[in-house]
Amino acid sequence: MELWQQSLQQSVTTPQTLAERFAIDPAALEAVVARYPMRITPHYLSLIQEPGDPIWRQCVPDPAELDDEDSLVDPLAEEALSPVPGIVHRYPDRVLFLVSGTCATYCRFCTRKRKVGCPSMRVSFNDVLDGITYIQRTPQVRDVILSGGDPLMMSDLLIKDILERLRAIPHVEIIRIGTRVPVTLPERITENLCALLRRFHPLYVNTHFNHPTEITPESAEACRRLADAGVVLGNQTVLLRGVNDDPAVMTELLRGLLKIRVRPYYLHQMDLVRGTGHFRTGVATGIAILEALRGRVSGLAIPHYVIDLPGGKGKVPVSPDYVERVGQELLIRTPAGEQVRFPDTES
Ligand SMILES: *Cc1c(COP(=O)(O)O)cnc(C)c1O
Ligand code: SF4
Repeated sequence: MELWQQSLQQSVTTPQTLAERFAIDPAALEAVVARYPMRITPHYLSLIQEPGDPIWRQCVPDPAELDDEDSLVDPLAEEALSPVPGIVHRYPDRVLFLVSGTCATYCRFCTRKRKVGCPSMRVSFNDVLDGITYIQRTPQVRDVILSGGDPLMMSDLLIKDILERLRAIPHVEIIRIGTRVPVTLPERITENLCALLRRFHPLYVNTHFNHPTEITPESAEACRRLADAGVVLGNQTVLLRGVNDDPAVMTELLRGLLKIRVRPYYLHQMDLVRGTGHFRTGVATGIAILEALRGRVSGLAIPHYVIDLPGGKGKVPVSPDYVERVGQELLIRTPAGEQVRFPDTES
């Protein structure tokens, strides 16, 4: 067994084990875990400094998950946009390909909370083959995003097999992998895995850091290995109450990501997912964070702030209003708050 597989086996999966380390009442969490599974890797657990801190909030079950019955189970209508199990086809040229049903650590705010880690998301090899057949038969698909669950929970052998099959399809131009293991299980990013991945370029990896504490020597090493294998690294962050809904925290996170060669890509407004209401902030919070970033941090560090609209209508960027039209002129607000007029004429 590989080291990362041993780490997975040593993960905390029950409130009882958590209670051996922290002063919590495990009984209060049992019902939560019965509905939404828990797993915390030794690495991610080691980042907790005290109960209730930003790492804790992301991975330790909270009874509030069960009091949120208003939101939607599948707000992005992924099931409706799924031509075969495992494929979500919302945009003409790209598909999400859900190849894994499990994750190294289950994030309490997960968009696919309804099924990650649950039997309903067990992905069989036949499901994977059906997904590949769908992509083969759908020539407008240029961009395949491996997701899940976490695709890097699969063995190297299976990853290689899927990548080989996808690369054999002439119209598949780029392959992306969405994974949180650089954060939660950095030992998964082995030299062997990187040697395998580098054979399948152009390959993009979008990882998922939400808080500066998650940037550790281990996660930096995982990103270094991927980047040295020629993988282009992006990051998706979810805006989370009590975790990163603060301009100073977000600034530290985004700057830290650039230092480990990861380019911020999206900042996601929380989806309206059942069981995650306690993480939701107002959109004004996200806009205020973007305003605080603009002009103060490297433009490379600034992600697109997006709302993924309910009903599968897609991601839409949200940005502060910098520009207002007044007659033939634009009235532009600078990052420093000044108003500047700019002529808007065509020659
Ligand atoms: C987010 C998403 C994509 C990828 O969108 P990009 O904006 O290209 O990163 C593709 N398909 C689905 C269903 C998505 O939710
Ligand atoms: S790693 Fe991604 S898919 Fe897995 S629980 Fe976290 S947010 Fe959900």
